[in-house]
Amino acid sequence: SLRAGIVGLPNVGKSTLFNAIVENGKAQAANFPFCTISPNVGVVAIPDPRLQVLSKLSKSQQTVPTSIELVDIAGLVKGASKGEGLGNQFLSNIREVDSILQVVRCFEDDDIVHVNGKVDPRSDIDVINLELIFSDLEQIEKRLDKLNKSKTKDTQVKVKEQAEKSGLEKIQQALMEGKPARSVDLAEHEKEAIKHLYLLTMKPVIYVANVTESDLAEPDSNSHVKEVAKAASDLQSGMVTISAQVEAELAELPLEERVEYLKSLGVAESGLGNLVKATYNLLGLRTYFTTGDKETKAWTILSGFLLPHNYLYCNI
Ligand code: GDP
Repeated sequence: SLRAGIVGLPNVGKSTLFNAIVENGKAQAANFPFCTISPNVGVVAIPDPRLQVLSKLSKSQQTVPTSIELVDIAGLVKGASKGEGLGNQFLSNIREVDSILQVVRCFEDDDIVHVNGKVDPRSDIDVINLELIFSDLEQIEKRLDKLNKSKTKDTQVKVKEQAEKSGLEKIQQALMEGKPARSVDLAEHEKEAIKHLYLLTMKPVIYVANVTESDLAEPDSNSHVKEVAKAASDLQSGMVTISAQVEAELAELPLEERVEYLKSLGVAESGLGNLVKATYNLLGLRTYFTTGDKETKAWTILSGFLLPHNYLYCNI
C-alpha cells in the first residue's frame, strides 16, 4: 500500500498525531482491519461509506477498505545530512516512503520547548528542507561523477546516460538555489532516467499545520498557519490544518460522540479525514471498488492507470 512518512522537528506534535491515528484505527477495528507493524509503522484503513453500501448490496462476506501505511520518522535534527542525531537512518527511512507529511508547530505553549526557541514555521520548514537538499546534492554529485567517467560504446546506454545527466544537472542547479527537485520542469525521458535515485526532494510533501483546538474553525486567524500556506505554495506542496490534540481526544471517544465533538469545535470533518483527502489529491490517487458475494474491496490507484476489467466505480 501507499506509504507516508511523518517528519518534523522535535516537539511539534508528531507522536501525538501518529498515536491518535493509530488509536483511531483500533477503535474502528470492527469494521476496518488495522494493524501496527512496528512501534513506528501503522496501517490505517481509509473509511469510505460507499464501500459499506456496496458490500450490503452484494451481501459480501468480507469488506476490505483501502489503506495507507504511516511511518513515524523521528530523529530529524539540524545536521542530519552530516550524520548528526539519527541522521543517516532518518534519511534512509524517508527514501522508502511515497510521500512526506511534515508536521509544523503552529501552537504556542510556553511549557513545551521549541528546539529553536520560538514558533517559526518557515524556519522549521527550511531546516528540514535543507537537510533533504544536502542529501540529494551529495547523491547527485556522486552520480554525475560516475556518469562523467562512463566510456560506454553502447548507444542505447549512452542516450540514457545523457538523459540522466541533463536531468540531474537541472536538479542540481535548482537545489543550489534552495528549490526542491519536484519543482524542476523535466522532460519525460529525464524523469524516467533519474527515477532510480529516489531523490528525497522529489517526493510530494504535505505540510500539516498543528494548531490549538480553538484555531481549528478559523485557521487563518493564526498567522503561523498563513506562513505554512505561503511556504506550501512556494514549495509546490500541499497543506492541511490539524490539531493533534483534538485528534488524540477524538480517538478516545465512541464513534457516535465524535461528530458532536467536531461540531462543538465548529468543524465538519476530522483532521485525519482532511489529511487523507489532501494526500489523495496531491498524489493524484483514486479509489475503485470490486464487489461480489465473497468480498467487497476498495483499492487505491494512481489516476490515469488502467482499471482491471471487473472494476465497478471509480471516483474519489
Ligand atoms: P514530537 O516530538 O514532534 O513527536 O512531539 P509530541 O507529539 O511528543 O508533542 C510534544 C508536546 O507537545 C507534547 O507534550 C504534546 O502533548 C504537546 N502538543 C502536541 N500538540 C499540541 C497542541 O496542538 N497544543 C498544545 N498546547 N500542545 C501540543
